[in-house]
Amino acid sequence: MLGGTFDPVHFGHLRSAVEVREQLQLDELRLIPSARPPHRELPGASASQRLAMVQLAAGEGSGLQVDDCELRRERPSYTVDTLESLRAELGSDAALFMVLGWDAFCGLPNWHRWDELLRLAHIVVLQRPDYDLDVPEVLKDLLAARSVDDPARLAQASHGYILCLSQTPLAISATHIRGLIASGASPRFLLPDAVLDYIETEGLYRP
Ligand code: ATP
Repeated sequence: MLGGTFDPVHFGHLRSAVEVREQLQLDELRLIPSARPPHRELPGASASQRLAMVQLAAGEGSGLQVDDCELRRERPSYTVDTLESLRAELGSDAALFMVLGWDAFCGLPNWHRWDELLRLAHIVVLQRPDYDLDVPEVLKDLLAARSVDDPARLAQASHGYILCLSQTPLAISATHIRGLIASGASPRFLLPDAVLDYIETEGLYRP
């Protein structure tokens, strides 16, 4: 799973998702938009608009799935709950991977029940060339104990390892895209044309 606010979804998410899926030979990779991000300010587009954009982006041929499980939930969208429901759906033997960028990984200790995540899934960390963050001490210990270099090691277990992956580095963020639109500049070629058309039709992110 690759969760996020996707406000809006962009090529940084999509290219990473395709590369992770291929490098780890995953059966499927689900993009999971979060409903009410517990530790972030409210997103600019509504939940249904963000879902619509992710569905447009992951259209035919991308090899990516969209899962709206967090949007159908009444409670705040905690990743640990999502992993528990995926685990229940897929069974205890399936290898489950939680994919997230380096910035999100560095913020992990603020997540709800974060110390349970590795009991449910592996963690795959993507590089983010637009973020220069130091990893918190508690995560250094976790990395020392749990990180592996060989993707094949992850496939041998259903959960419990951390892999830092080198994918094509794309310094694209939703914040930057929202800023461009708010200032009247074009974000074209940072995100799929279908998503940009939708943003324009819906009048999203304008000041
Ligand atoms: P914002 O700028 O609004 O914070 P974002 O661009 O970081 O948004 P999110 O929806 O918050 O996008 O990201 C979802 C996940 O995708 C996070 O784990 C994030 O680290 C990761 N991610 C986002 N952009 C990239 C990128 N360019 N390269 C690699 N990972 C990314």
